Formats: sequence, C-alpha cells, structure tokens
Amino acid sequence: MKKTSIDTKYVFVLGGVMSGLGKGIAASSIGYLLKQADVNVTILKLDPYLNVDPGTMNPYQHGEVFVLDDGSETDLDLGHYERFIDVNMTKKNNATSGQIYSTVLERERKGEYLGETVQVIPHVTDEIKTRIKALNSNPTKYDVIICEVGGTVGDIESLPFMEAIRQLSLEVGYHNHMIVHVTLLPYIKASGELKSKPTQHSVMKLREIGLTPDMILCRSEKLIEQAVREKIALFCNVSPDYVIEGIDVPSIYEVPLAMYKQNVGQLIKERLKISKSPRLDNLKKFIHNYKNPKHDISIALCGKYTELIDSYKSVMEAFVHAGVENNARVNVKWVQTEKIKNQEIAQMIFSGVNGILILPGFGSRGSEGKIQSVRYARENLIPFFGICLGLQCAVIEFARNVCGLVSANSTEFDKKTPFPVIDLMESQRAIKIKGGTMRLGAYDCKLKTKTKMYAAYRKKIISERHRHRYEVNNRYRKRLENNGLIFSGVNQDLNVVEAIEIKHHPWFVAGQFHPELKSRVNRAHPLFREFVKASVKQKNE
Ligand code: GLN
Repeated sequence: MKKTSIDTKYVFVLGGVMSGLGKGIAASSIGYLLKQADVNVTILKLDPYLNVDPGTMNPYQHGEVFVLDDGSETDLDLGHYERFIDVNMTKKNNATSGQIYSTVLERERKGEYLGETVQVIPHVTDEIKTRIKALNSNPTKYDVIICEVGGTVGDIESLPFMEAIRQLSLEVGYHNHMIVHVTLLPYIKASGELKSKPTQHSVMKLREIGLTPDMILCRSEKLIEQAVREKIALFCNVSPDYVIEGIDVPSIYEVPLAMYKQNVGQLIKERLKISKSPRLDNLKKFIHNYKNPKHDISIALCGKYTELIDSYKSVMEAFVHAGVENNARVNVKWVQTEKIKNQEIAQMIFSGVNGILILPGFGSRGSEGKIQSVRYARENLIPFFGICLGLQCAVIEFARNVCGLVSANSTEFDKKTPFPVIDLMESQRAIKIKGGTMRLGAYDCKLKTKTKMYAAYRKKIISERHRHRYEVNNRYRKRLENNGLIFSGVNQDLNVVEAIEIKHHPWFVAGQFHPELKSRVNRAHPLFREFVKASVKQKNE
C-alpha cells in the first residue's frame, strides 16, 4: 500500500437520506472554523455524475455553474467554499466521475495499463485518491483537506468514491481522517416527533461499504432533544457529543456559529490532533449587522430561471455581503421578463423597487422584456446593474432608444438583425463543441478614471471572471460612444468592451463579466456594494 503524507488530515463530508441537505454549507462551515483557527485548509468536491463538468447542464438540473479564475466550470458548492474560506479555488478542487473515467480510459488507450484488466477497483479508485491527494502538490501543503462527495450514500454512481475514501482512511490512519455524515431528521407533525430511522438506515448503508461515521450532522426543523441524540448515538455507533444539530438558520453564515456552539471545532481538533482555536468575532459582527439593518430596500432581479433561486446563488450571496456593508436588508423581487411587453407594464412591475438588476442568461426567451426593463431603469433614473447578458441588453436598449438603431439586437436573439450591436467574437465562430468553449475564467480589464466603475474599485486594472460567447460589436463602438455610452472598462489585449455606464443617471453600470463570483463574506464585491448604496440612496430620497 502506498504511504500517504501523514501531515495532511482529511475530513470527508458524505450525505445520507436525501440530497439538498446543505453538505456544501456544512463542508464550508467546517472549513471556516478551521481557517479561523489558522489551519491551512482547502475543500474539494467530488461529483459522481458522468458529465465532465456542469457547464453543459441546464440550471434547473444543477443550479448555478460556478466559474473559477482558471476558467473551469464547477459545482456551485465551490462558490460556498470560496466565500467562506476566502481562497481562490482551481480546477483541482472539483472532480466529476466524467473526468475520472475519461482519465482512466485515455490512459488505457495509451497503453499505460498494458496487460491488465482495467477495473473500478483499483484503477478508478486510485484515480479518485490521486485527485484528492493532488490538492497538496507543491508548493501548497494543506493541514486539512475537506472532501465533500455529491449525492447520497447508497447511490450506485457514488460507490467508487466511497470505496476510495475507505482505502484512503485506512492509509492515513485514525487521527488523520474523519467522516462527517450529513443526514435529515424528518419531523412528523401528527405525533410531534423527530424520526431517526432514515438516519439509522443511511448509516447502515455506509457501514455496508466499510465506512463508519465519526460525526453525524442532523438537519432538522426542530431542536433535537437529548433522548433523540442518544438514540442516534446508540444506533449509529458514535458518542452523543458527536451528534450535531443542524437546525435551519436565517442565514448560511450562522452555520459555523451554530456548529461552534456545539463544540464541533473542538471535536474535530481533538480527533485530528489540531491545537489551535477559531476566532469568530468578525463573523459574529457580520451576523449582528445582518440581523439589525438600518435600511430596507427592494431590488428587482430580472432573469429567466427565477423559479429556481439556486441558479443565481452567487448573486444572492453577493447581496447579503453588500447589504451588510451598507447596513441594509436587500429584499429581492424576482421578475420573469417575458411578461414585460411595454413601459406601462414595466412601471407596474417596478413600482416601489429601488434598483433593477438584469441577470446573466442564455437564449432569447424574455430578452425583449429585459430590454424594456433596462429602458425603464435608464429613463426613470432607477439604479441599474447589468451582469453579462445584462450588459448586452443595456447596449441593445441604448442602441435602439438613444442611437436610433430601432431594430438593433444581439445575434444570439436575432440572427438577421440589421444592427448586430452584440455579436459572436471572431474566435467563437468556428467553435462547434459545446463543453468548455465559452470565454471562461479571469481576464484583466483596464478602467477609465472618473467613472463609476473606477470609483467602485479605486484601481485601474481589475480582474474578473467570464462565461459568455457574445461581446459588444466593435463596429458600433464609435456610434454608441458618440451618443453618450461610456466604455468604462476595456480588455486591451482582446480589444473588447468589458464595462459600460452612462452619465446623468444616479448609477447605471454593467459588466460583461460576473462580479458575483468574487464576492466574499468578509469583502463585499465593489460593484454590488455601490449598487446597493445607490439603491439605499434612491429609497431615502
Ligand atoms: N448569452 C450571453 C453570451 O453567451 C450571455 C452569457 C451570460 O450572461 N453568462 O454571451
């Protein structure tokens, strides 16, 4: 058996009973507690599905696709990891079965396994272990690697991951690993009881594959009484201290505090023999401010997937961060733009709203309504923020209603438009393959001074993350500029527009990039911060 470096400790976060219990938040919160104790920690997500990455999945299937600096399209849990532990992730922090099997199959074709039968054990499990350990490659060496496995224990496709974890746990030894099992205690109203049976069954499933949980995090809507804790402890073979209550809390940022109160940090430290303790003053202050805002504003979020807020997870979190920095509670009004056919409807929908944001998106559904929404914000001096598709809609609106190019459009929405003010970049035209081929990841952008962009960032060169195929068409730049559109950010290497704004408006800014991906709990994104500030001002005036 290959010896693993024993300096690094592993915390495996596995889910039972059902998905959607917040394993990502649990992993992030454990990461937060360790980080605040000066432990050098990172988090890895293993996704058992066969897609190579979530980039080609529908948001209804998967929620938001979280893009990293290096351009990888990853699971939305990586967004939580970055926001909580404030570390930029790389493609090494997310691996799917699709990637793992592709690697093994490529190797087989190259003849690297000549003579062998290629099998799930050991070839696939070895590749999984290699990817977990690879996070530690030079020069970074982590004290703790938290590894979350997507899906639920008992799923056929997650079995190789469970087996790899079983092997790795044995390799590193008792004090170098820990298994945290996140389960659900359903509440039965009629009898007023929390039921522990599903948890017992999911632990049985774990044990069948040779894994024993060290800590059980029980999601529930009610407080867990001592008797229930003891029952779970007895049936699941853990000590009652290690049965942790994961009750619903108003903000995800309270989860580390709730865990801390139940001694989770201490229990992990004892098991993994870590000596330091977390400092949580900043988080306590953040939660206090979050719960006691001075202002209350309403922001309209205009998009396509508004029934599934997971599609815009990072935007929602960015508003939490920016709200706290502005002492404001940001209430969100979801707007399906398909119904906004004219300015009268826009007026009805946006009455009482203090800011309008056009969300990122793909495809033409609802695009005319988005363009109507931009117009309403521009003409009625409502603070406006456009993200990616939001910038493109703002440019189309400006071309139509200010420059007089009445049928201006994006070629994404209308291939035959006579004024393609938004168009495919030259480099995108020949691309036929869908996976991983957009303009992805971090790009530098130069800001014009004396603009709202510059006032927000207070520096000339910024770096933001991208995920799109279309751009402002340079052929129309002069015309748009002559009519008053300000190109406040430009990528000079690619010669493309990255940010726009207009004068004589309280705050009208849009970016071709995704600022929401870089907002952190301890550091609100400058554009969200300024947009919320402008919306608070709009309300108070
Ligand atoms: N659909 C647009 C494009 O591909 C915008 C993408 C986005 O908003 N992320 O350029």
